[in-house]
Amino acid sequence: MAEGDSIRRLATRLHTTFAGAPVLDSEYRRGGEVPVRFAGDTLTEVAAVGKHLLMRFASGRTLHSHLRMQGSWRTHRPAWRPRPVADRLGAWLDLGERGVLAAHDMPVLEVVATTREHTVIGHLGPDILAADWAERIGEAVANVAAAPDLPIRQALMDQRNLCGIGNLWAVESLFIGGIHPYARSGAIDIAATLDRAHRMMLLGLRNATQSTTGDLRRGRTHWVYGRYRRPCLRCGTPVAFRAAGADPYDRETWWCPHCQSTRRQV
Ligand SMILES: [Zn+2]
Repeated sequence: MAEGDSIRRLATRLHTTFAGAPVLDSEYRRGGEVPVRFAGDTLTEVAAVGKHLLMRFASGRTLHSHLRMQGSWRTHRPAWRPRPVADRLGAWLDLGERGVLAAHDMPVLEVVATTREHTVIGHLGPDILAADWAERIGEAVANVAAAPDLPIRQALMDQRNLCGIGNLWAVESLFIGGIHPYARSGAIDIAATLDRAHRMMLLGLRNATQSTTGDLRRGRTHWVYGRYRRPCLRCGTPVAFRAAGADPYDRETWWCPHCQSTRRQV
């Protein structure tokens, strides 16, 4: 799942492998846009902000990407080239002996001046996995509290409130907190809810896993996420589900009607 933790792991891996590498050759094509050349430039840094990936170059350019559900950055052997009828490949960078880095099926890919990265990530709230989270959690709490009637799960997913958290971590952290996903933000302890999600994601990042149960067996990795009608792993009650709504942040949701009681919080 391309959530803040997996994007951060990807950024760290790409940075470790490729930072400082000169670009020998490249291709970048996006619909009718003018092709951008990276050959002769140097990839200096790969960083993550929320679910956004930023590749910075010595020339002062940033290649910004967002994987959403389907995109991926893959490392290919040195001198690899895509076949002429490649899948929806957006860009590749030949980084010499370290390999060729290629964007596959990337829904968001654009080049901006590094000094203007705010135009693509400036709308994001505090990053739940960034080093400054402890200093900025108050800002994130205030953002969520500003819309007290919004369901907490939707508020968690709105990247303008806080960024990096995805549906998996929102659903599972609300389960751990015993909070109904449709509880009004104003009716719950927002700071405790954000802190819980932060601690769970940090643990997932450090352990390189998105299992929230600590169990890695198939079908046992999550308490309620993806478990519609199957028994809650804590109490056995069939897990409830609601499909995504019209709002882009109103994603599909799972919860346990017993462990996340509506009576207490809604
Ligand atoms: Zn339960």
